[in-house]
Amino acid sequence: MEEKLMETASAWKKARRVLVFTGAGMSAESGVPTFRGPGGIWNRFDVEKAAYLQSFLTDPRPFWELARELMLKAEARPHPGHYALARLEKKGYLQGVITQNIDGLHQKAGSREVYELHGSLDRLDCLDCQREYSWEGISGEVESGEVKCACGSKKVKPRIVFFGESLPREVMDRSMEIAGDCDLLLVVGSSLGVFPAASIPQLAWQRGAKMVLINSEKTYYDDMFNWVFRKSAGRVLPELEKIILGGEQEENN
Ligand code: NAD
Ligand code: ZN
Repeated sequence: MEEKLMETASAWKKARRVLVFTGAGMSAESGVPTFRGPGGIWNRFDVEKAAYLQSFLTDPRPFWELARELMLKAEARPHPGHYALARLEKKGYLQGVITQNIDGLHQKAGSREVYELHGSLDRLDCLDCQREYSWEGISGEVESGEVKCACGSKKVKPRIVFFGESLPREVMDRSMEIAGDCDLLLVVGSSLGVFPAASIPQLAWQRGAKMVLINSEKTYYDDMFNWVFRKSAGRVLPELEKIILGGEQEENN
């Protein structure tokens, strides 16, 4: 483990452009459930009813039930792994974070360059009268299961990407651009099973970037990586940061 950490930290320091690609596993230690695996959301919710745009427009209640669970995120706090990434960015060791998460935890930790491929729960729009809401503003209604706009419409849609919707074009284009041009890419807490998001690390790999995986379980794509850490994000990222920034402090002295 120690040697792998040193090798990864050394490759990170040598790289000119480093990107991190995160999935639900990045938020697990903050108490936000992942989709798959034990305790995963899809073991308890019906995907068809809760996460497809068409179902939401027909009957939004199953989505709000799921959202109530994700409301945990209102209290969720970033963990040491999030903070490590934010500090590495600040010190110039990280170009940005491309995330599939919709919980805003990277920003809460202080990361600036965050590309949210699946949008964010933070803002919502009424599809009938275009009024805007904040997540905090409607949390009471989500709690009660009846979310309604002041105009009476029940189509108050969070700015997230439902199944059956396409990804925000600009975010996707920009993510592909920087992924195609990075020297080192870390995937953290993603099963890499959700497309087109997962095509982003694949592009970096095809273009010859060094690849690092931090994921508690095996993925179908483990062969793509130079270094694989089958450990938690909250442990490995701070250790890498310590080696990278620790070295910096010594050099400065
Ligand atoms: P996923 O649930 O398919 O995979 C998560 C992976 O993270 C698993 O392989 C698991 O082994 C690993 N993992 C779990 N805990 C970990 C930890 N502490 N450290 C490191 N790895 C850990 O998630 P995905 O690949 O992101 O794809 C699922 C989709 O679900 C995404 O599109 C995302 O938008 C959405 N989602 C988002 C949130 C969120 O915003 N927090 C939560 C659930 C799902
Ligand atoms: Zn309205």
